[in-house]
Amino acid sequence: MPNMLEVRNISARYGNVTALHDVSLTVGQGEIIVLLGVNGAGKSTTLKTISGLLHPVRGGITFEGEAIDRMSPESIVRRGIAHVPEGRHVFPGLTVRENLVMGTSNRKVTRAETESDIERILEIFPDLKRLYTQMGWSLSGGQQQMLAIGRGLMARPKLLMLDEPSLGLAPVIIKQVFRTIKSINEAGMTILLVEQNVGLSLKIAHRAYLLETGRMIRTDTADALREDDGFRNALLGVT
Ligand code: ATP
Repeated sequence: MPNMLEVRNISARYGNVTALHDVSLTVGQGEIIVLLGVNGAGKSTTLKTISGLLHPVRGGITFEGEAIDRMSPESIVRRGIAHVPEGRHVFPGLTVRENLVMGTSNRKVTRAETESDIERILEIFPDLKRLYTQMGWSLSGGQQQMLAIGRGLMARPKLLMLDEPSLGLAPVIIKQVFRTIKSINEAGMTILLVEQNVGLSLKIAHRAYLLETGRMIRTDTADALREDDGFRNALLGVT
């Protein structure tokens, strides 16, 4: 199967600090790929470089065969990559519905299309249906995460990038979030996930990449990595 996304030997910098060195990864249509690594390894920077918030100083990125590494974030969203950033960023003063509608702002859509997309998203997230008219600020962390993912889906992406969706959530809610990510993938969505929750990520992902201090040091199938105690322990910080 041809790769949907190809990141080839990219380096990225914040001023004088090089955060990514020669990083490569691929995402095939229909896959869940997880990008693992400890704090500061460069996971968020990789997503920011793909979504055009940062341009690589070396290397290239193609999406469906087209070079995107010089494009603006708006052009990249329009081509079908949605980025749900770390920390959710739900609009506190807008309702659930209004937050969802904000997700369409990069596309021209008819009112009827917006309504049918919202319907579809409320089926994926029944909680949001119940909270439809509530303000963003009044939602729990888990509900805000679901809303942030739902807003990402409103852009009708071909590739959904999720940055640490489990961050700061209770274990039972984290499980729910992962179940939802898996079901979105089973319905056909390709997903690039950044996570620190190694166990659950390797349960739902097809393949994984490991970043360490800005370098990609390992990649394998999730099945192989799940069986590799050394790999898991290194990431979990246990010996
Ligand atoms: P985390 O889980 O903490 O977000 P991460 O793996 O996503 O970690 P990045 O946020 O990509 O890591 O950070 C990679 C490196 O780049 C770190 O050394 C970090 O300090 C640095 N960095 C990140 N954002 C900036 C910035 N805006 N300016 C300068 N340096 C930055």
